[in-house]
Amino acid sequence: MSNGIYIHIPFCLAKCAYCDFNSYSGKMNLRDDYITALISEMKSFSGIEADTVYIGGGTPTVLENKQLERLITAIHETFSLAEDTEFSVESNPATADFEKYSLLKNLGVNRLSIGVQSFRDNELKALSRVHSSADAIEAVLLAKKAGFKNISIDLMEAIPNQTKDSLLENVKKALELPVNHISCYSLIIEEGTPFYDNTPPLPSDEEEREMHHAVCESLEKAGFTHYEISNFGKDGAFSRHNMKYWTGEPYYGFGAGAHSYYGNVRYSNISGIEEYIKAEDKRLEATEISESEAEYERFMLGFRILTGFETRGSFPDKLKALSEKGLISFDGRIAKLTKRGEDLANLVFMEFLSE
Ligand code: SF4
Repeated sequence: MSNGIYIHIPFCLAKCAYCDFNSYSGKMNLRDDYITALISEMKSFSGIEADTVYIGGGTPTVLENKQLERLITAIHETFSLAEDTEFSVESNPATADFEKYSLLKNLGVNRLSIGVQSFRDNELKALSRVHSSADAIEAVLLAKKAGFKNISIDLMEAIPNQTKDSLLENVKKALELPVNHISCYSLIIEEGTPFYDNTPPLPSDEEEREMHHAVCESLEKAGFTHYEISNFGKDGAFSRHNMKYWTGEPYYGFGAGAHSYYGNVRYSNISGIEEYIKAEDKRLEATEISESEAEYERFMLGFRILTGFETRGSFPDKLKALSEKGLISFDGRIAKLTKRGEDLANLVFMEFLSE
């Protein structure tokens, strides 16, 4: 079991109306100091072995090329990365640039995750995204031209005023592009966002479920495996980094607001950019996770993996009861949600809320 490394870049061109991630606009002048602070945090974990690296955000590709080069070179120098490391970087289509993508490729990045959300300009506008549909298509094609073979895109379900047909148009467009991984999350209205105070018209729960079924059907027909509730991969191109989160493997997070989990302790970092840069100790808190809590959590996350996970003899009574209700299938070793369980996944997850 090797570690995952997560690096958080909290800068964005503009803040999207639905976003509650730890990201900020209007702070680009802090990028150099932030990278210096990030590298110093990384250095205190020098030598860690890892086989996945994920630079997420925010928008990592708002970094200038020389800043990306400084950061990624430091990652290679600081950590002991396996030869077959999956090295992902997130990108917003508004920042797509051939030179930047080529640089990333030359620096050992082998997976690009592009935040498309929709190929319809009216839907992008409703989400206050800063890019157009044409930018999104261009970003994927530039990634391909720069030599990326692993290209993931995010699509969003249940966008204001979205219909099943318009969502399926987005899926169709995605399938015309050279992508081998698609994440498809529903819009969630989070407290503290402009959408929370002023919620736009959204599809009903029933419509949302229908949309999700239609997406699954369409992608599966096109040869994608629905391997996690919101994720689809072609020819085994599953996100190895995210699988670590879902299977309870250790990961080290660096940067403002980043989380880590190793040695049965969960850590979280200071979230403000200025505060993070200034602080000598970037950690905000550490929470010890008991063996029993960890096992509950392993099941909650494990049921997200639709190809199934090893139960290792835990919770036999709960598994039996859930099987009898037709929510999961369980062969004595591997458990997974059934189709009915996918629709009612929250009922299954609730069974494994730590007591
Ligand atoms: S680009 Fe992503 S991280 Fe940045 S504000 Fe929009 S949703 Fe949030």
